[in-house]
Amino acid sequence: MQSLYRLYPSNASCARRPRPKTPVFSICLSASKPLGCSAAICGRTSLAVKGPTVSNYAWVCFLCRSAARRPGDATDVRCRSCGKSCECIGYKTPIPPKSKLQEWEALRRLYYCKKQQGLARRTRDRVRRIHSLEKEILRLESVPSNPGRTKAVKLMKKRLKALLDR
Ligand SMILES: [Zn+2]
Repeated sequence: MQSLYRLYPSNASCARRPRPKTPVFSICLSASKPLGCSAAICGRTSLAVKGPTVSNYAWVCFLCRSAARRPGDATDVRCRSCGKSCECIGYKTPIPPKSKLQEWEALRRLYYCKKQQGLARRTRDRVRRIHSLEKEILRLESVPSNPGRTKAVKLMKKRLKALLDR
């Protein structure tokens, strides 16, 4: 992660610039940390969208360093050059110019790092929910039953099954 932020450092020259109303660097990769900015990309909005009305997201091909605009819930967005699946990087993330290899590499690393973190977090949450449901089912089954408890246990077992089947 350190090296990523070295490529997208926040530096003094950017800090002196007036801040945009829309946070340009809040990345839609379920990111808690923004990309940061560098003198090279600070303020660039070639494909970054200003304003909340545009609903198109940036879909990129890291191999070809190309981007396309599609809705965030689009399925199977293909690269126009190589035909491979594109990755959605959100709608506020600036897209580096094709020639900036290092910025593309940093973007790619950040994207996959965030994706991995998101996956780990979802797995953790799922395990927590499973344990919590199992515990609650055991607790309710250990006390005398009544229609409400029976219904609750049934519902929780259904939820548990759905979680385990995922
Ligand atoms: Zn491609």
